Amino acid sequence: MRSSSSSSKRRQSVKARALGGGVLYLNAAMSSDAHADAAPMAKKAKMEDKDAIAMETNENVPPDAGSGNVNAESVKRSMREYYQQFYPADLMYKWLAYGHDGKHAQVDKSFTNRREFCFTLDGDIFARYQNFPNAKEFRAGLARKVPSKIDIGPVFNRKPSERHGVDFKPVERELVFDIDMTDYDDVRTCCSEANICGKCWPLMTVAIKVLDVGLRKDFGFKHLLWVYSGRRGVHCWVSDERARKLSDEARSAVAEYFAVYKGTDASGAKRLSLTTPLHPSLKRAYNDVLKKYWTEVYLPAQKIFEHEDKYTPILDSIQDEDIRSELESAFKRSGTDSVARWELLETLVTREQAKVKRNYKLDGILEKIVFGHIYPRLDIEVSRHMNHLLKAPFCIHPKTGRVCVPMDPETCEKFDFEQVPTVLDLISGTKSLNESTELFTEKFWKALDVENEAKLTSKTREVKAANQSGMDF
Ligand SMILES: [Zn+2]
Repeated sequence: MRSSSSSSKRRQSVKARALGGGVLYLNAAMSSDAHADAAPMAKKAKMEDKDAIAMETNENVPPDAGSGNVNAESVKRSMREYYQQFYPADLMYKWLAYGHDGKHAQVDKSFTNRREFCFTLDGDIFARYQNFPNAKEFRAGLARKVPSKIDIGPVFNRKPSERHGVDFKPVERELVFDIDMTDYDDVRTCCSEANICGKCWPLMTVAIKVLDVGLRKDFGFKHLLWVYSGRRGVHCWVSDERARKLSDEARSAVAEYFAVYKGTDASGAKRLSLTTPLHPSLKRAYNDVLKKYWTEVYLPAQKIFEHEDKYTPILDSIQDEDIRSELESAFKRSGTDSVARWELLETLVTREQAKVKRNYKLDGILEKIVFGHIYPRLDIEVSRHMNHLLKAPFCIHPKTGRVCVPMDPETCEKFDFEQVPTVLDLISGTKSLNESTELFTEKFWKALDVENEAKLTSKTREVKAANQSGMDF
């Protein structure tokens, strides 16, 4: 479990450690040190509390850890060229404007300028509360400051640069989700911490498949943008107007709905919020996604039933002495793989369950094992609050140099993070971002754009109708 889960109290603050070693707290809402256009005045600080600002800080990551690391200096040197030639600034700005950057009579002209952007400068300076009135200014800001990372914050009731005052507050932002491979260390035998490989990446595929369907079917959201975080995880940006306007309480409720996995206790047992029978949405996840990935992908890759430290807590959770000892001796004999061992476990449990109407000792045990290992593990603190920054799509991850590219949930099982273009690939011309910007446009932005237009048009009709009825009196 990551420490960020317990740090919500400090979410409004940027807890930062000065490079000299002292700790300083920059209260985000009150500090005068983080002016929108006062980057030079920003404290030179090393991010310590991820929850305070965004994902993918480099905390707890040894300098040589992580797969696919490239030379950080060459990435840094390439950023200016990246923003000038490759970063789809206009497309990003258009998305975040939700139609309010157009010429339509009903646009809210102040909307775009009330959105917070946070630029990370020189690796560890956070210039929060940047706002840009139009795409041209956004591009100019990028060219001027060349951030190593861009985070997107909420839309406030006023311009972020005019944030001093008691009533300054966020009024909308995308509902976001963050899933990070470091939260899966206890169920990986291939890698740990920031490292990822083709054997553990399917855990992200499972997370996308389950959450995407859940958000669409159970909550009715339509405009979901999935993005590779550039290193070891994925983000989801739910951009429906209804999602953007959710209160913090409602965001928490949505995140909790998916927070089935509650961590591991001291004995290694996984804590889960599961009922018997399963909630219909969890039953769907189990039948449509989890079962298949468990036997076809996860077990062959992670071989957990061939690792005693991994299977012991599983056997301990089976409240039937006979089954447990039969499995224990079977697992000690060589010659069977994890899939065969799971099938044996499944057979013994099912046979025992069939003997009585309801076997309370073995209730839902198979499901519990599967959910405890591969059901999505969310960093729910990221989802809970409107006022939470999240790394923007198409950023460059400073360690891997990879672009945070959009992903298609329908084909995410084919996604290969090793093939994601790095900033160096783009500059050398060996790869391009065309496929990624096309995916963003075709699978996400187009439908949203149509809806934005339709909303403005219906607003016009409402205004006309109101004027009409006014004239009737
Ligand atoms: Zn791995």
